[in-house]
Amino acid sequence: MVFLGTGVLSPRIPMLEATPEGEGSKAARKPTGLQVVKSPRMLYPQPKALTPSRKDVLDLTPWLAPIVWEGTFNIDILNEQFRLQNVTVGLTVFAIKKYVAFLKLFLESAEEHFMVGHRVNYYIFTDRPAQVPRVPLREGRRLVVLEVPAAARWQDVSMRCMEMISDFCARRFLKEVAFLVCADVDMRFRDHVGVEILSPLFGTLHPGFYKAAREAFTYERRPQSQAYIPPDQGDFYYMGALFGGSVSEVHRLTTACHQAMMADRANAIEAVWHDESHLNRYLLDHKPTKVLSPEYLWDEQLLGWPGVLKKLRFVAVPKNHQEIRSR
Ligand code: UDP
Ligand code: MN
Repeated sequence: MVFLGTGVLSPRIPMLEATPEGEGSKAARKPTGLQVVKSPRMLYPQPKALTPSRKDVLDLTPWLAPIVWEGTFNIDILNEQFRLQNVTVGLTVFAIKKYVAFLKLFLESAEEHFMVGHRVNYYIFTDRPAQVPRVPLREGRRLVVLEVPAAARWQDVSMRCMEMISDFCARRFLKEVAFLVCADVDMRFRDHVGVEILSPLFGTLHPGFYKAAREAFTYERRPQSQAYIPPDQGDFYYMGALFGGSVSEVHRLTTACHQAMMADRANAIEAVWHDESHLNRYLLDHKPTKVLSPEYLWDEQLLGWPGVLKKLRFVAVPKNHQEIRSR
């Protein structure tokens, strides 16, 4: 029975009530011959139609996509629903050149907080496979090292991620995982990040701009670029460091961003924030089906810990930009 399994992949659900002993999970036959379908019972607080879960934040976009904040979801319900899909989540991360140094903390913290209880494939894109640390993994989780060439400029390293994710979607991700989460490596998980983030297409609010007016967003403002967004347009400023969705949607997104960057290159223009500018243009035209609050991308050193954030889940690891980006 799917709800009552034990072990790492199906941890005990405290709020679940087992079917009474002897009756089992299958249909119990009544003397009349009618089947009574017995299903496990999950007990949790009732959602109240007149009581918002959070009063201090927007938790739904105008196109009816949830914005994920602590307090807006019940992870036990989501975990049970997700487990029924019996699928694997892929986490792509690039560790090119000196950025391999971030992998250990990234992976160790992911083992503690990322999709715990579910199957996970880590896809590490790197030019230094020998330097990928051996981190002990929980059951049902594996690490796949994908050797890729390094670009010389850091801007190109960052922009080529789109191309490489797009390539590997067709080559292997489609066959191996249902969802892809694409993350920066100079980060660590410091609290729960689970299936509440999954949806066909999701982006994350940039921690520096979640309170800002659209005119102040650092979108690409030159009409010559494919990433151009005029001042009177734009929903949110999404950060390039965390996005994802179903493999087919991520394939569409990364292919479109890659093609837009190639068109820009042909026109001798480079968007102000590189792949992030193109991601923002794409997500303006293709509205995400879920938006992650800045709980999912934070920089405590830079921004402290405002009260609106009940949890800091995925946070920047301090780095010296010049040093780490040098050869
Ligand atoms: N990256 C990399 N090697 C580099 C530059 C970038 O692996 O030399 C990857 C890495 O995954 C990094 C991401 O590209 O997290 C984005 O770059 P960075 O984190 O430096 O951008 P920032 O978060 O500072 O805007
Ligand atoms: Mn980063």
